[in-house]
Amino acid sequence: MEREDYPRTLAELEARFSDEASCREYLFQLRWPEGFRCPRCAADTAWPLRSGRRQCASCGHQASTTAGTVFQDTRTPLTVWFRAMWWMTSQKNGVSALGLQQVLGWGSYQTAWTCLHKLRRAMIRPGRERLLGAVEVDESYLGGLETGSHGRGAERKALIAVAAEEDGRGIGRVRLRHIPDASASSLLPFVRDSIESGSLIHTDGWPGYFPLEANGYRHKTTLVGRKGQASELLPRVHRVISLLKRWLLGTHQGAVGEEHLQDYLDEFAFRFNRRKSRSRGKLFYRLAQQAVAVEPTTYRAIVASARTPDRT
Ligand SMILES: [Zn+2]
Repeated sequence: MEREDYPRTLAELEARFSDEASCREYLFQLRWPEGFRCPRCAADTAWPLRSGRRQCASCGHQASTTAGTVFQDTRTPLTVWFRAMWWMTSQKNGVSALGLQQVLGWGSYQTAWTCLHKLRRAMIRPGRERLLGAVEVDESYLGGLETGSHGRGAERKALIAVAAEEDGRGIGRVRLRHIPDASASSLLPFVRDSIESGSLIHTDGWPGYFPLEANGYRHKTTLVGRKGQASELLPRVHRVISLLKRWLLGTHQGAVGEEHLQDYLDEFAFRFNRRKSRSRGKLFYRLAQQAVAVEPTTYRAIVASARTPDRT
C-alpha cells in the first residue's frame, strides 16, 4: 500500500469499502505496513485463508487481522465500522451517538454509543510524544455533566487539567486530563505524562504547581490578581477550554457522563491537534491506523472501567 492511502470522499469510501474483504485488506496493510509478521513466531510468510485469516507458513498459527484491535470480536460488520470512522472524522466537530445512529440507520443507540467510545479509545496513540517548549498549564471546572446511570439529570462539575503549547501567538498541541482535584499529586503526574522535562511551564500562582522546578521543569508564574484575569494571562489554555465547552454542548448537547469524560477529552485533543490537517481523509487514516494498534475493549469494559480520575 502506498504511504497514507485513504479515501478522499464519502463516494470513494463507499466504492472502495463495499465488502468485508476490502475493509479487512485495508486493516491488514495498516497493521503490517512492512509486511506480515506472525504474532506467535515472527515468521514473515503466511497463506491467506477463506475466513480472512492468514496462516503462518512456519508455525501454522492462524492470525486474524482484527485480533487485539478495537475490531476484535465485534458483531458489527467492518463496512459499518468504516462508515462510523468516516462520519467521526469527516465532520468538523465529529458526531454524537444519536447522530451516528441516525446516519447509519442503526436500531440501537447503545451500539452507536459503544462504537464511538471504542474509537475514542483509539484516538490516543500509545507512546505518543510529549509537548515541548513553552507550555501553558491550568485547571478548570466543567459544569453540567451527567453522573452515572442513576444520577441522570443531576448536575456535576468535573475538574480538568489542560496543557497547551505556545506556538508564537498561537496554540500548538494540547493535552487534557480529568483530575480528581487541583493538588500537586494530581497535577504533577499530568504534567510529567504530557510535557517533556526541561520545558518552560507557565501557570498561575496556585501552590499545586510549586513542585514543578524540583521535577525538572522551568517554571514561570503569573499571579492572577482580579477574578477573570486568568484568561488574559494564560490565553491559550483558556481558548482551548472554551472550545472544549462549546464542542461538548454543541456536538454532544452536553450529554456527557462524568465517568466517560476522559474519552471525550481524548477525542477533543485528537481533533484539535489535527485541526490544520488539509484532508479529512487523513484523519480517517490516522484513526484506522491507531484502531488496529490498540488493545480491544468491550461495552462492558468501557462501562466498568470508566476512567474516573484517580491518583495512581
Ligand atoms: Zn508463526
